[in-house]
Amino acid sequence: MLVRRGRRSGLFTFVAVHSTVRGPALGGCRMWAYEDSRAALRDVLRLSRAMTSKAAVADLPLGGGKGVIMLPNGGTLTRERRHAALLDFGETVAALQGQYITAEDVGTSSRDMNVIAEQTKFVAGLPRQRGGSGDPSPFTALGVHVAIRACCDRVFGSGSLRNRKVCVVGLGHVGSRVAKLCAKDGAKLVLADVDRSKRKLAEELGASWTTPARALDAKVDVLEPCALGGFLDDETVPRLRCRVIAGAANNQLADDRIADLLADRQILWAPDFVVNAGGIINIVEELDEYSPANARRRVRRIAETLGEIFDHAEKKSVTPLAAANQLARERLLA
Ligand code: NAD
Repeated sequence: MLVRRGRRSGLFTFVAVHSTVRGPALGGCRMWAYEDSRAALRDVLRLSRAMTSKAAVADLPLGGGKGVIMLPNGGTLTRERRHAALLDFGETVAALQGQYITAEDVGTSSRDMNVIAEQTKFVAGLPRQRGGSGDPSPFTALGVHVAIRACCDRVFGSGSLRNRKVCVVGLGHVGSRVAKLCAKDGAKLVLADVDRSKRKLAEELGASWTTPARALDAKVDVLEPCALGGFLDDETVPRLRCRVIAGAANNQLADDRIADLLADRQILWAPDFVVNAGGIINIVEELDEYSPANARRRVRRIAETLGEIFDHAEKKSVTPLAAANQLARERLLA
């Protein structure tokens, strides 16, 4: 774990390297306002661990890591200070000499990766014009979409989303695309976001609009969390009225025990680090010779991986989380 105070921006930058057993630790750079530096530390450690499992389950030659640029109270930066923070973060990445490769995450973009690349070559997800794989979100969204279909197939006996009631919470880079893919499939959509300007998308897709709080107890077939993590806990799980949860948000469970609560309520929860691996699968293509068609083909395999996890969970009477963790452990040991 490396924590440095940036000499240009004065902001704390963190990099956690959880594992390099399968290859360099790859994970996005999150730019976010935390209550204090301990909260940022907890987040970066937890996210880096999830990246190890994500890369192992997707069978990628990568370990797990994560970066954080901790925003000051209030969360806004001038353009100059933001630029300075990205350069400072680049220096932190460079100090790890290739043990960690960064990429975009919540709060950063592929353009920001260009700035970080001024300080270090260990950057993935550069813009397409620079030979990179660009924005990973369309690939993450594709992965979420095939995962939802795999879950519906398991629970309802058909992967078709026609007339399925589907609620997407968080309509950012990934969630908006997932919503569009589900709309194309004929799903009946309910959309929610803390940002009310996203209501426009609901109008565009002929979807209903609700608040994120109400979305939790919406009576729907599928709930797709595509905002931030940690919202599935002892209080929220008893309120849920969906049959399937599959979404892009990282770390959806407040802790691993929540997977048992979901299973007790007969809700199929698809482990987040399996569902949202599309972005990183795409980035791995960039480390070789980049081909979007190959990336899409590999991302679609998320459906098969989920199928194996669900089969194993049923056979051993364990939760999908336990089955996915087991698969990650086996791949790490191998
Ligand atoms: P984003 O920042 O583009 O979008 C997040 C959206 O969620 C925004 O519209 C925001 O207004 C909304 N939001 C924030 N808090 C909310 C809340 N409490 N309730 C409802 N809506 C809320 O982020 P993104 O790139 O779309 O990523 C979404 C999630 O998916 C994140 O957890 C991210 O870590 C994860 N993820 C993203 C990728 C990727 O390729 N972008 C890959 C893997 C995982």
